[in-house]
Amino acid sequence: MRLKLKTVFVLYFLVSLLGLIYALMQLGQRCDCTEHDAPKERTISRLRGELRRLRERAKKSEVAGQPQIESSPPPTIFVITPTYARLVQKAELTRLSQTFLHVPRLHWIVVEDSQTKTPLVGQLLAQSGLSYTHLHVATARERKLQEGDPSWLKPRGVEQRNEGLRWLREDRGAPGDRRGGQSGVVYFADDDNTYSLRLFEEMRSTRRVSVWPVGLVGGMKYEKPVVEGGKVVRFHVGWRPGRPFPLDMAGFAVSLELLLANPDSRFDGDAPTGFLESSLLQGLVTADQLEPKADNCSKVLVWHTRTEKPKMKREDALQAQGLGSDPAVEV
Ligand code: UDP
Ligand code: MN
Repeated sequence: MRLKLKTVFVLYFLVSLLGLIYALMQLGQRCDCTEHDAPKERTISRLRGELRRLRERAKKSEVAGQPQIESSPPPTIFVITPTYARLVQKAELTRLSQTFLHVPRLHWIVVEDSQTKTPLVGQLLAQSGLSYTHLHVATARERKLQEGDPSWLKPRGVEQRNEGLRWLREDRGAPGDRRGGQSGVVYFADDDNTYSLRLFEEMRSTRRVSVWPVGLVGGMKYEKPVVEGGKVVRFHVGWRPGRPFPLDMAGFAVSLELLLANPDSRFDGDAPTGFLESSLLQGLVTADQLEPKADNCSKVLVWHTRTEKPKMKREDALQAQGLGSDPAVEV
């Protein structure tokens, strides 16, 4: 029993010694590095994956309009809206302003077709919660559509859109006043159309001029640029497809930089019917430079809706009896 224990101890001692000698020999030798590098490789590829995921998230949050991880902020969208006094004006502007409240980084330039800024529009803007600029310019009488004229006879809102452009060039165009390198996109939004929120995120990445379909316009279900191989090759429109840019006002956006670089480009009120959009765009881009949005122009995200003029038959009858609605109530 005693002997056996001793043998076990000796054996244990010998094995430990051998192990120690082997370990000391290993220390002096060059290692097989692939084995040691394996964890490093794994870390690198994990970090690469992480970086890719972060980049994707940054891209997605840009699309969703959330703050980006990259340093330069996403462009501001400057929306220019001509508007004029009529029974439905407050309803139109209320709907529009509440759409825009959902759009990050949007500045609304409202240009009244009037001799002075009206309190109705002024108060609506002040209470809207939006970032805005309130302007006015009255359309010359000879340019204004008269009661009973067909709506296509004269273009509407021309001087107002040009006034919006003038303000942009004056306020945002001064050298050194680019608001910290802030870039912009300009969109002309009539007060009666219907706008999907997705449209604004589509146009935010405009480099020169971006385009997309417009629903319920030009006597068609929709008009749209036709895209092949990522380029606009022609236009699906019912009327005069040969126009330089057969696009509705609601169907394109222009980069602010491009407008500032071309200080004379503007809408020509004397352009023949249907050529108003072309009169601005002709000086800015060629058709093959147009940037198709909305899934290669396959989605309708804006509709050229028109609001019915309300009938006032009963109101007029009551007014004749001195019983009309209280004029102090703003409608
Ligand atoms: N507009 C205007 N003055 C007018 C008529 C229209 O400023 O005398 C504005 C109107 O508020 C709208 C844009 O110009 O924002 C286009 O007018 P409208 O919607 O009547 O044009 P349509 O839908 O017939 O093309
Ligand atoms: Mn309209």
